[in-house]
Amino acid sequence: MTGDRADKRIVILGAGPTGLGAAYRLRELSHSNWDIYEASDVLGGLARSYTDEKGFTYDIGGHVMFSHYEYFDRLVDTLLGQDYTKIQREAWVWMMNRWVPYPFQNNIRHLPNDVLLECLMGLIEAQKKQHDPKNFKEFNLAQFGEGISKHFMLPYNFKVWAHPADMMNKEWIGERVALVDLERILRNIIEQKDDVSWGPNNSFKFPLYGGTGGLYDRYHPYVDDNLHLNKRATHVDPVARKVTFEDGDTTRYDVLLSTMPITELLPRMDSVPDEVLHASEDLLYSSGYSIGVGIDRPTESSKCWVYYPEESASFYRVTYLSHYSPHIAPPGTTLFLTETSYSPYKHEEKGTILERTIQGLINVGLMKEEEREIILSTKVIDVKHWYPVPSVGRNDALAIIQPYLMSQNIYSRGRFGAWCYEIGNMDHSTMMGVEFVNHVLLGEPEETWIPHERGDQSLIGIPDTSSPAEAMLSQ
Ligand SMILES: Cc1cc2nc3c(=O)[nH]c(=O)nc-3n(C[C@H](O)[C@H](O)[C@H](O)COP(=O)(O)OP(=O)(O)OC[C@H]3O[C@@H](n4cnc5c(N)ncnc54)[C@H](O)[C@@H]3O)c2cc1C
Repeated sequence: MTGDRADKRIVILGAGPTGLGAAYRLRELSHSNWDIYEASDVLGGLARSYTDEKGFTYDIGGHVMFSHYEYFDRLVDTLLGQDYTKIQREAWVWMMNRWVPYPFQNNIRHLPNDVLLECLMGLIEAQKKQHDPKNFKEFNLAQFGEGISKHFMLPYNFKVWAHPADMMNKEWIGERVALVDLERILRNIIEQKDDVSWGPNNSFKFPLYGGTGGLYDRYHPYVDDNLHLNKRATHVDPVARKVTFEDGDTTRYDVLLSTMPITELLPRMDSVPDEVLHASEDLLYSSGYSIGVGIDRPTESSKCWVYYPEESASFYRVTYLSHYSPHIAPPGTTLFLTETSYSPYKHEEKGTILERTIQGLINVGLMKEEEREIILSTKVIDVKHWYPVPSVGRNDALAIIQPYLMSQNIYSRGRFGAWCYEIGNMDHSTMMGVEFVNHVLLGEPEETWIPHERGDQSLIGIPDTSSPAEAMLSQ
């Protein structure tokens, strides 16, 4: 490391996966002039967990560890050692009162005959035409045709994103990988075969203790010397290169890594050009409720999670969390974790969401009415920044905002720091932190995060091993 790099003072805002990835790498490189400041009192950000006094551990939505990076795999091994479970992915869709194995489009033989015919005719029609889709809705119709779009893709994606599909771009899916293989679909129907082995990640690790957040708790020995909890940054002065915190403390930086949402960072900064502030209005997000329900009966299923495209339930997904580790819920109990999104386009009243969730679990057959009596524990976690929506104007907005921030020596990275859903998982976020350090101290290019240019239609930064189709459905 050269002299001036060794002296560089690096300040990290946020101790979620991105900030912790950077912190870990700084320590690994024996850099000493750095600090990490976190607004809350725990590590992990959106990947933290909560354990209640009855012994139920709740994640924020169903988190599973998928990795596209050797560095991330090694890091997880270092942090967890042998303290993990390995789960075979088993995902389903519940609709029209029946189970359809995931991925939906490969298993439409399970649908009623008239719906199956509609889906097949739509697929065939779509394959006959040339398409130039302008947004995510048109992309769905072009790829899957009318039937699959109407019965699954569009209603399901509205429940997930809480935004109409025509407000979303199509670039985040990528167009290089065919989502539909008509011959394979027809073969599955004719041979009456379930087709579930899809994507590189059909098994995953889960921390044995403490839920997903258990992974992030294990960073403590590596970061504690430079960690400051309960320190919310309220002001960033890019000229003096100074951060001010809620309690009045300040710190100086040479380079700043911010992992808070871009839309929270910009208003905290002085003299941001109007063009940049204006661009940030195109950065849309959904909010969400992560709701857990613990029941006093065993988990009688090997399922991992189920997608719900219909209105019979407010949630779009349920995870059988108690299936992931024997320590996540008391012995002999079941812990369901549900996810419901909301936004100005999709209202979900907070006062009634828990009751609507329990009724939804009954409606879809995961609970019986009489099992209301044996609910042991519930938890509602209300999350403002849930999904960074790949809106139609997103890429152009980022092409204005990020160069401005970098000109001020501020790197905004991570799920809402980069504001790119397609690189918004834990492995991507961790690596954005690691690669930020490699870039600033070693001069290496960042690989996960890459800049957008105005008018850019390309998919950003997803490593080649990632399946866009999987990204679309495995949230
Ligand atoms: C519902 C849901 C399901 C998910 N499922 C998966 C999954 O299955 N697999 C997967 O890999 N990933 C999943 N993720 C994504 C994963 O949670 C993120 O990749 C990860 O948490 C992003 O890390 P981050 O550090 O960029 O941001 P965050 O986790 O948001 O962390 C940012 C941190 O910054 C802190 N902060 C904010 N403002 C300030 C401030 N002003 N001053 C100081 N600190 C501040 C916050 O408190 C927070 O701790 C899911 C996310 C959600 C919401």
